[in-house]
This record gives sequence, structure tokens and C-alpha cells, in this order.
Amino acid sequence: MVKRIRFSLIYFLIALGVIFLIQQYIPTREFETISYSEFKVLLKEGLINDLGIKKDSIEGEFLEGAQEHLLSLRDERDERKIKRLKAIKVFFVYRMEDTDLLRELGEKGIRYSAKPEVTWFKTLLLWIIPIFIFIAIWGYLLRKMGAPGEGLMAIGKSKAKVYVEGETKITFEDVAGVDEAKEELKEVIAFLKTPQKFQSLGGKIPKGILLVGPPGTGKTLLARAVAGEAKVPFLSLSGSAFVEMFVGVGAARVRDLFSQAEKLAPCIIFIDEIDALGKARGISPVAGVDEREQTLTQLLSEMDGFDTKKGVIIMAATNRPEILDPALLRPGRFDRHILVDRPDLKGREDILRVHTARVKLTPGVDLKVLASMTPGMVGADIANIVNEAALLAARKNKEFIEMADFEEAIERTIAGLEKKSRVINKREREIVAYHECGHAIVASILPHADRIRRISIIPRGIAALGYTIHLPTEERYLLTKSELLDRITVMLGGRAAEELIFGEVSTGAKNDLERATEMAISMVKAYGMSEKLGPLSFDRGRPLFLEVPWSPPKDYSEETARKIDEDVKTIVVEAYERAKSILTERLEKIKKVASQLLEKEVIEGDELKKLLEG
Ligand code: ADP
Ligand code: MG
Ligand code: ZN
Repeated sequence: MVKRIRFSLIYFLIALGVIFLIQQYIPTREFETISYSEFKVLLKEGLINDLGIKKDSIEGEFLEGAQEHLLSLRDERDERKIKRLKAIKVFFVYRMEDTDLLRELGEKGIRYSAKPEVTWFKTLLLWIIPIFIFIAIWGYLLRKMGAPGEGLMAIGKSKAKVYVEGETKITFEDVAGVDEAKEELKEVIAFLKTPQKFQSLGGKIPKGILLVGPPGTGKTLLARAVAGEAKVPFLSLSGSAFVEMFVGVGAARVRDLFSQAEKLAPCIIFIDEIDALGKARGISPVAGVDEREQTLTQLLSEMDGFDTKKGVIIMAATNRPEILDPALLRPGRFDRHILVDRPDLKGREDILRVHTARVKLTPGVDLKVLASMTPGMVGADIANIVNEAALLAARKNKEFIEMADFEEAIERTIAGLEKKSRVINKREREIVAYHECGHAIVASILPHADRIRRISIIPRGIAALGYTIHLPTEERYLLTKSELLDRITVMLGGRAAEELIFGEVSTGAKNDLERATEMAISMVKAYGMSEKLGPLSFDRGRPLFLEVPWSPPKDYSEETARKIDEDVKTIVVEAYERAKSILTERLEKIKKVASQLLEKEVIEGDELKKLLEG
């Protein structure tokens, strides 16, 4: 509607311009353009009168006989032209430099007057026409680039699709294998259902919730399930939708999204793949950053200005939390992080159950067995497998899906995933299991090491194949030397276990080694914990915001540098030997824990304790 009005305005202006043109440049009477020499002749003969003299041209009237004279001058033969000229009463001539003109006019007694040149109109045209052309091109480009249905005026409108209750019929039933995340989200649902009641009880609700986890683990699904469970509208938008070509558009979208949400409260705003928008500012000095920065700033200020009391929960999802701008994670923004991790054996079985509920299975299909065949896979992979199995069965004209179809589907999926190196093979799983056991057992022995909360061989994140979660006994700001040494020993426990069991080491310990070395370097250079070098600091820090490789200015001698290197090496090597000797004494236990881990994929802290005691 707005668009149409705007365009008819343009037409109106154009029409107005055309009218002006006609009035100014096409006189009402027909005229003859003559040459200056002809003009001079006619002047001398006294055949013209009533001249209007402008800066660049002269208009005037022919007197009796002027036309005939002109024709004789021109030696015109064409009957039609002769006839036409005879009927014409007015002439037009372009002016030339002619200092005698006025005198001659005076001598002949010809009436003349000055006429102003209409310049303002020309200037107007000179300005307006280019602007019209510009607007036309701009509008055309916009329509080409924008999503369908998006016109000149709709740029700032949010692309947010408002799924209202009836539409997101997804509930927690549809999301499996992420029980911890669900548990944490229950509070949010309770709040969304009855915000007033929640408030009067003094409940404090987080403003922003960030779902973190690898791709395909069901973050998007989970967010929609929260809306479905709470039966509130779900406004979702992808982070990349904010980032547009035009500066300011993204920011306008954010504003629009929040104002929509305010009207629909209680509701959920969900920003999927927020990393596209929330990349740390200043990481890459490339074009387009300005726009993203503006959008991000707008998002931050909207979040700050937003009152949770209104019943709007802002959720976001990312699989790359490490690149997010720290400002996004500050208290009052996305300060609650919920891990949506890869599912374990049991979780995969549950996900299989969810997805096979919609297909027909033969009684022989054992979901437990299928789950054990899909280590490392995420919900999206499993959904894919069920779909593939159904297709395979259909191709063979079966009425029900059989175990063999699933097996084939799994094989295909694994082949696809192996190319993307997301699934690990059997041998690798063993190495990972022993590696993680190494960390866990060393940690359980050393007095200053953090307690183990969980060991897992489910690949997590991008790099880590397995992981061991340590639970710090208390929040620590100060660490003693022996605590640091214990930590380094735990870090090296993984590699030590690999060496003891397999007689060789793998590349899997890269990160452990880096961290251990870094910690040892800090001990020597920053904390003055080296006996040989004494309580000196050799740490000059590193300038902030420097992306290029940088080597610190050394204000110590080569001799000292060598000693530092030696000391760091001693610390790491000694810790490694210590880890190895701890593990050598407990080979049986390692094997026991590792086989358990291979079977169950995850061992919780309490179980581990029992295993080690028993
Ligand atoms: P993410 O947003 O984490 O990348 P999605 O939520 O887009 O993953 O998941 C893609 C699809 O995979 C979902 O639509 C669903 O069919 C399936 N899926 C993923 N995780 C789960 C899960 N935990 N339970 C059931 N289905 C899942
Ligand atoms: Mg997603
Ligand atoms: Zn490790």
C-alpha cells in the first residue's frame, strides 16, 4: 500500500515536469528557426518586429513579406515547406556576439524588449532527473536482492516468522537425549506459563539463554519445544538474517523484532545461529563489519532495555560459542548457557524411539542395538538414518522396516560422516577411552587435582574426541605450586595412558600438551616458581587486540632464556613421568574403567569412584 502511494507520487511529479517542459520550450504558436545571417538580412530589410531578446536567443514576429524574402534567400523549391513557412508568423534565432545589434534595431525603429531566461527550471531538471534515475535503479536493485515480497519500504521489517501456539506443536516429547538441557529449561517454561505468579513468588528469571552445542544436536528443536510446552508464541530469526547489505537494516530488524515480541508477550524470541551476528567485534576488519556491529549493538541495547517482567524470554543458539562477542555473554544478556551435547547411548536410543514412532517397524528391530551402532552421531544424523531406512524399505516394496534396512542406512550415513571426519572408528575409540581413563585415574589419585564429574568418549565440540569434566572443589583464584604441578600431571595422564597401553602415542593429546606446556611456562616466567631462576618475572604480557604473530620483547639474556626453557622442560617431563608411574601401578584399574567406558560411553563421577574402589 505504502509502496503504491509512493510510486504514484513519482508519476505525479514526472507529469508535472512534462507540463512545465511543454509550456516553456514548445511555444503555443508554431515558429520557424532561422539562421543569424537570415535574421540580419530580415533586420536590414525591416521585415521583423516585436523582438524578445534573451541571453541566448531572440524571438520575434515576421512582418508582411518576410516569409517570401526568406524563401528567396533559401532558394526553397519544396512546395510543402513553402506553404508551411508562409503560414508561420513567429521566428526564433540563436544569438551571436553582435555589438551592433542594438544600434541597428534602434536605427530601424524595431520594437524590442528583454526577456528573462528561465534558468531555475533547468536547474531543477538537472537535479531532479538524476535523482529519479537513482531512485529507480535503487528500487530495482532492492527488489532484486530482497527476499520475495520485500519492497522498498519493507526492508526494516523483521523477517521474524511468528509461530503461534498452534503452529509449533513440538513438545519435549519430540526432543530426546538432552535431559539435562530439558531440566534446565523447565524453569523457563514455568515462568512463561504464568509470569505474574512467578514474579510474585520472587523467582528470578534469566533474560537470555544461550543453547550451545554441536550442529544437529537439536538446539533449534529444543527452543521450539520450549515454546510448544509453554504454549506461547515463538518468534524465530536466524542470525544471518540480520546481516544485510545495507547499513542500518539489521538494526531496524532487531528493533522491529523486539517491538513485535512486546506485543505478543509472553513469548520467546529465538535467534538461531547467533554467531553470524555476534562474532566478536573487531576480529576481522572487512567490509560489512560496520553493519554487523551496528546490529549487534542494537541487540545488546534492546536486551538491556528489556524487562523480563513483560514475559519475554530471549533464546539463542550457536555451535561456536568461542567466537561470540564477550559483550553478549555478560550478565543481563545471554548469561545462562545450556549445553546441548551429543547424545550418549541411552540418548540415542531415545532419539531413535522418537523418530521411529512415525514409521512401521518389524518386531525384530532392536533400538538398543541400533543405538550402539551409531556412536558419535547427533539427533539430526539419527533422524536421517530413520528416513533413509524407510526409503530403503520402500524401495524393496517392504511393508515394514527391518533391521537390515537400518544397518544399511547406518553404514551409508557413517560413510558420509567419515568423510567429514565426525565419526570415529573402533580402534580410535579404544585409544580415546584409554586416554580419558588416564586423565581420570591420575586425577583421582593426586591430592590437589579437581574431582572428576564425568568421563566420556562421545566426541564433543570440534577438536576433542573425548573429554573428562573436572569439577573444581571450590572457585579458585590462587593456586599453589603443588596444585599447578598436579594439574599438569593430570593433563599429561592421557598421553601417558596411551603410551603404557598401546606402546605408542597418538595425535589426540595435542591440546593436553599445549595446555600443560603453557601452564609450565607461566609457572616459570610469570609466577616465579622456578627454583633455579628464583622469584623473578620474565613475563611481559602480550599487547591486546594483536592478531599477527608476535614475539615478546626479551629483556633477559640468552643465558636466562635457555634456563627458562630447561626449567619448563623439567617441569613437564617430571610431571609426565609422575603420571606414568601412577598409571603403571594401576594398569588393571585402567583396563577395567576403559572397558566400562567403551561399553557405556559415559561414566559419571560416582560410578568412577565405585569402580576405582571396588
Ligand atoms: P541444531 O539446531 O542443533 O543444529 P536441529 O534442532 O536443527 O539441530 O536438529 C535438526 C533435526 O534433527 C531436528 O529437526 C530433528 O528432527 C533432529 N534432531 C536433532 N536433535 C534431536 C533430538 N535431541 N531429539 C530428536 N530429534 C532430534
Ligand atoms: Mg539449528
Ligand atoms: Zn586429553
